[in-house]
Amino acid sequence: MTRQGWLLAAIALLGAALALLADRWWRRRQEARAYLRGVRYVLSDDPDAAIAALSDAAQLGTPEAVETYLALGALFRRTGDLAHAIRLHRNMLLRPGLEPARRVEVERELAHDYRRGGMLEEALAAYRVLADQGDRAAREGLRDVLVDLGRLAEAAGVQRQLSSRAEDPLLAHLLAAQARGELAADVERGRAAALAAVTAAPRSADALLALAEAQGAAGLAPDAAEAIGAALDEDPGAALLAWPALQAAGVAAALPLVEARLALAPDDAPLHYLRGRVLQRAGRTPEAAAALRRALELDVTGETTLAMRDLLREAEAPAPDELAARHDLLVLALLRKARPVRCARCGAESPVRQWRCRRCGAFESFVAPG
Ligand SMILES: [Zn+2]
Repeated sequence: MTRQGWLLAAIALLGAALALLADRWWRRRQEARAYLRGVRYVLSDDPDAAIAALSDAAQLGTPEAVETYLALGALFRRTGDLAHAIRLHRNMLLRPGLEPARRVEVERELAHDYRRGGMLEEALAAYRVLADQGDRAAREGLRDVLVDLGRLAEAAGVQRQLSSRAEDPLLAHLLAAQARGELAADVERGRAAALAAVTAAPRSADALLALAEAQGAAGLAPDAAEAIGAALDEDPGAALLAWPALQAAGVAAALPLVEARLALAPDDAPLHYLRGRVLQRAGRTPEAAAALRRALELDVTGETTLAMRDLLREAEAPAPDELAARHDLLVLALLRKARPVRCARCGAESPVRQWRCRRCGAFESFVAPG
């Protein structure tokens, strides 16, 4: 090739490089514009236009666009706009050029959307695909959806895979809930699950109370009483949750247990409440009314008052000679100030304390109103 030929080739190459650069510059500019437009729509509260504009940006496939998309999807979900969150995440999955690692992230986000939107079967399927690929966050999601669906034994199975520690309070909660579900149909299966719960976390009040319920159902009243005592030693704040266990243990075992505890803590409102309920079961109605009244008077947090309102709402009509005492109690329970207990994690309110928040699925998240 001549000297002139080399020169021409060099010029052609340079031209090609410039053209490439110009093209990249043009694309980046377009993408930046689409991005800015999307941000503007978000700011002006027009989610549909924002999704459309950001789709243009994401089509060009830069990490920034994907990042923005994900942030927007999380924002939609946080504000409860699940239809838009789902549409946005589905859109993202349809775009070509999404890196495999990012794809997993988007699929996980979509599964979260489904769960928050109550589309539990869709969430379950989406989480399961990711969980099978070893995604830990998806496994946690899978476990929570199984709990939402009431498939507690499966949820416990997933939690066992997740947990590496010897003691696992969360697994204990799951197995305790499973035990309570199974007790109605099959006492021995329920008892096995309760024993597994206590094995998973020997100091879990939830597990110990579930065990007491199972022992009581199996006719083992002294074992039930022992487990209730252990539960209240571990967590005196769980007293209001101990009623099903006391009921299962039977009056003969429950009354001495509650009275022995009251002797040590005479001003404890939940214990007076429990004593009242046991006395009621025993048919000692006037004493029961006095104990329940005492519980209301001693209630500092309002939680016993709330439990009492719940009890009175569910209670059967009183016998004619008990009407006055019942009325007295009802008025007192309604007059006392009591705010609902609140989930410390998601803020959901509940009239009575529960082991698990129905809204966010957290265990032991309820705090006494104060
Ligand atoms: Zn919650």
